[in-house]
Amino acid sequence: MLSGRRGSVLQGQDASMEYVFTPPSQVHLPVSQHAAAFPVRRIYCVGQNYAEHTREMGGDPNRNPPFFFSKPPQAAYHGPGFPYPPLSHDVHHEIELVVALDRGGANLSSEQALTHIYGYAVGLDMTRRDLQAEAKKGGKPWDAAKGFDFSAPCSPIWTVQQVGHLNSGLIYLDVNGRRVQSGDLEQMIWKVPEIVATLSHLFTLEPGDLIFTGTPAGVGPVQPGDVLDGGIEGLDQLSVTVISS
Ligand code: MN
Repeated sequence: MLSGRRGSVLQGQDASMEYVFTPPSQVHLPVSQHAAAFPVRRIYCVGQNYAEHTREMGGDPNRNPPFFFSKPPQAAYHGPGFPYPPLSHDVHHEIELVVALDRGGANLSSEQALTHIYGYAVGLDMTRRDLQAEAKKGGKPWDAAKGFDFSAPCSPIWTVQQVGHLNSGLIYLDVNGRRVQSGDLEQMIWKVPEIVATLSHLFTLEPGDLIFTGTPAGVGPVQPGDVLDGGIEGLDQLSVTVISS
């Protein structure tokens, strides 16, 4: 049922609607030690939220604040493989803390924001770096660089009840057993409550929204056969093998 402002704008649409084909199935992620799954609504991402990563991307963290972009919800999945996407020769790993919301809202304060978080996961913001560089050069959108199929592998979600709120701790990625990305959650320029609050002024947040919170330094290319093991202190590890598509 639609309610509130959304309901009044979308009058005439109801749950008994018939569709011309079967609607796509709900994207979901597993929840650690729970039988029920987390239904994914939208995926928001923060760009350049760790100063060292901003520098490695050629930016100046003192002059270029973090920013938002998004991926389609269908990019999220939990599975053992990452299919190398077509039309790129420079696909990069970005290990990130993922925030999962179970309450919506608009114009939230940082104080309110934490009560909207259901849990946390380890995610990879996989990126066609070559297409991103072209897009940046031409002032064009990042969709093809960031929103391709399987571009958001995620670990199961750990609930706040299980792990509390995460504001510090190691975040890392090993490629074939070699540590390539390493940072601490406390190095985030925008902290998690600020991210949720700022985002809620741009968009009405809803249960099911995921937020990728940015990557520490050390991003780099992956090749078919590579094994990516990423983790965050207090959460499960995320392991995916890059497979040729
Ligand atoms: Mn990222």
